[in-house]
Amino acid sequence: MRYVYDFHQGDGTANDLLGAKGAGLAEMTRLGLPVPPGFTITTDACREYLRFQGFPEGMWNEVLRALHRLETRTGRHFGSGPGIPLLLSVRSGAKFSMPGMMDTVLNLGINDDVVLKLETWAGDRRFAWDAYRRFIQTFGRVVRNVPGEAFEEVLTNLRQEADVASDSQLSDEALERATRAFQRIVVDRAGTAVPDDPFAQLSESVAAVFGSWHNQRAQRYRRLHNIPEHLGTACNVQMMVFGDLDDDSGTGVCFTRDPATGKAVPYGDYLPNAQGEDVVAGTRNTLSLAELGTRHPQHHAHLLKVMSTLEDNYQDMCDIAFTIEREKLWILQTRIGKRTARAAIRIATELVEEGVIDRKEAVKRVDPYSLDQLLHPRVADDLDIPPLASGVAASPGAATGVAVFDKHTAEDWAAGGKTVVLVRWETTPDDIGGMIAAAGILTSHGGKTSHAAVVARGMGKPAVTGVAALLVDEGKRRATIGDFTFEEGALITIDGGAGTVYAGAMELVEPEPTPELENLLRWADTYRRLGVRANADTPADAAVARRWGAEGIGLARTEHMFLGDRLPIVRRLILSDDDAVRKAALDELHAAQILDFAGILEAMDGHPVIVRLLDPPLNEFLPNLIDLERERASILAAGDDVSDVDATIAGVAPWQEINPMLGMRGVRLGLFIPDIYLMQVRAALDAVVGRMKAGGTPRLAIMVPLVATAEELHRVRTMIEEELEQSEARAGHSLDVMIGTMIETPRAAVTAGEIAAAADFFSFGTNDLTQLTYGFSRDDVESTFLARYLDDGVLADNPFETLDGPGVGKLIELATVGGKTGNPRIEVGVCGEHGGDPASIRFCHRAGLDYVSCSPSRVPVARLAAAQAAIGSHSGGSV
Ligand code: PEP
Ligand code: MG
Repeated sequence: MRYVYDFHQGDGTANDLLGAKGAGLAEMTRLGLPVPPGFTITTDACREYLRFQGFPEGMWNEVLRALHRLETRTGRHFGSGPGIPLLLSVRSGAKFSMPGMMDTVLNLGINDDVVLKLETWAGDRRFAWDAYRRFIQTFGRVVRNVPGEAFEEVLTNLRQEADVASDSQLSDEALERATRAFQRIVVDRAGTAVPDDPFAQLSESVAAVFGSWHNQRAQRYRRLHNIPEHLGTACNVQMMVFGDLDDDSGTGVCFTRDPATGKAVPYGDYLPNAQGEDVVAGTRNTLSLAELGTRHPQHHAHLLKVMSTLEDNYQDMCDIAFTIEREKLWILQTRIGKRTARAAIRIATELVEEGVIDRKEAVKRVDPYSLDQLLHPRVADDLDIPPLASGVAASPGAATGVAVFDKHTAEDWAAGGKTVVLVRWETTPDDIGGMIAAAGILTSHGGKTSHAAVVARGMGKPAVTGVAALLVDEGKRRATIGDFTFEEGALITIDGGAGTVYAGAMELVEPEPTPELENLLRWADTYRRLGVRANADTPADAAVARRWGAEGIGLARTEHMFLGDRLPIVRRLILSDDDAVRKAALDELHAAQILDFAGILEAMDGHPVIVRLLDPPLNEFLPNLIDLERERASILAAGDDVSDVDATIAGVAPWQEINPMLGMRGVRLGLFIPDIYLMQVRAALDAVVGRMKAGGTPRLAIMVPLVATAEELHRVRTMIEEELEQSEARAGHSLDVMIGTMIETPRAAVTAGEIAAAADFFSFGTNDLTQLTYGFSRDDVESTFLARYLDDGVLADNPFETLDGPGVGKLIELATVGGKTGNPRIEVGVCGEHGGDPASIRFCHRAGLDYVSCSPSRVPVARLAAAQAAIGSHSGGSV
């Protein structure tokens, strides 16, 4: 097996073998771009290294031979000896780019002899010692695991002593002292010195780069981005070029288009007299590309040419690292540039307009998960106000509110009408009350699977987690972010789509489809087979869903129509023994529901609207028994009459259940208290008749929840059909209404063939189906053990977000086949939360479903994901 390829030998498309960086270097070399020569050690070598904790046989000899070729090619010499010194950079580079996650060592090959040769070559003692101290510093940190602060402390002292603000102002003596101090720090902390022998430096650095595949940061990143663990990284060894040689040198990063907006103008940052790490560290102000043009017109023109060559070659926006070493521009790296969702859409659609790619390719290029950023309110991005800090974009949406530091204050202040943002180090299940009360959540710890992130996403609230700069002092009721201190009660804004935190109230913008997004989605619609509907239970939500392109309502949950000012009517209906009172309550609800249904049917005119009959256990509409007992005790203590409260308790008590979600709910309610279902059916049919009179085209479907046996559905269907006949008789014409069922119990899935005989359609309620398949209470686990399960890797994904293919998915496949066998004309969809999750949508496509239904704001995500499923391409997620 061959382990080492010179850049001019490598295959520019071999990302698997050479990593994305290595393949990019090979490709750029092939294109004749000015790439510093070097070689790539393959991912095969890394995988073997990780397996056997040593380099594979033959690899080191190949490295030595490649190094020899590199000396010949560059006319430089590695290590002590005559001639111009050859220093090396050693960088990781995996198949999928993982920016900043793994390790890099620069200026390798330097020692007490070489530093003198370097001084002679550059004609600059300061430069030579700066290179030396940088090498010891990164080698110490990366290879010997010495904490970076140990070195920073030395530099801080030297800066203070010299009374200068930045390291670039330190003298050659100061840098020599820094180098010696760093060498001592490595010996003290790591027990062994940094080797003088350049070959030992190289072998240790390559080993460290390979080993960094397994560091915690990288592992976390891979989990977040679904990058397989077994891939390993390649290692690129390249001749150093020096952007820190003098003021005519420098280093920068540029993009062939703006990565934030997608605008087709080159964008970049340049830092004079600096090495790459100085740009990334963000401690010095960079110059724009235009400013580079003023300083170095020829380099600027050359760089623009390189940009256009690369974009033409890759037919996509490229991200390029470059260095200017006096007279020469060098290109160090290129990759397909990361971009915001907005930029991704604009770039893809403009590339189509430019004739570079076709529509199908454009549809493939936008990650449906990233669209989430655009579908929630966000902080307006044309304000030019920088955020205080950034962290993990854990749950999208933006919120402005007053900062509170504990759950009690959150609950109290929210009850008093304030909008609060809960600010914690990290949340725990104990914080739930505060999270419910808060409009948004901000934590200094944790990533996308932390408790705060998982729970906030479950609640649909914005959250920013992992803001390392945020220090919360709960005792003193204050927090700091860098220099900014805020007391409890101070206004802050978080943007969970961007992962940013701002001081004060920021202007928020509501999501609206942009022309570019609409274009892309229209193209997507031509490729997808799956229909996309929305879950909406008000006319307003239905209208929003329509605007985002929903082709119907896949689930209107009618329980929401029983809340608010209708709750007292519902309570009278449930609690009264008096038939007249109950009838009056039913009539009131009937009248109210006609309006709801008519509004939804109007917003979705001509498209199917699936109305689900009442599902939740009735105790959800009743006062809490414990609260009632407390009230009784205080009335008694005051010596007053308890007969009213006793009557209420007597009415509420029979509806208490130990496991209400497994009790009297769904179809069981329909069979035991048929007048509620019959009232709902009548109201929906009356709405249909009204819409038809108004010239509309209502397409009603009635859905029965929580069915477990064919007999249940059969009986409820008979009830519904009788009501339908009566409505038709009243209206004087027939009504075209479908009757179907949710499949959300495992038994229903397994016996779907029988159930299908009484169903015109099936809709998978994957929320309940997941709950019942795993035996995970959906109301509890997300706030208890689920975050731990995800963090510890017991579960790879949250099964309530991403469909569990091997378990719940098996049931879906079984039921789809069974349903279509039992009733060849049956229509099959999904209406659980998974209907808006791209990986789950891919599964639904493969399983042969007819449509997915999701919340209105996820309709665009679903349209794009369904198209990618049909095209057979996707980014991220796995089911
Ligand atoms: C489901 O269970 O997936 C479903 C859509 O119903 P609900 O969430 O209302 O129980
Ligand atoms: Mg359900």
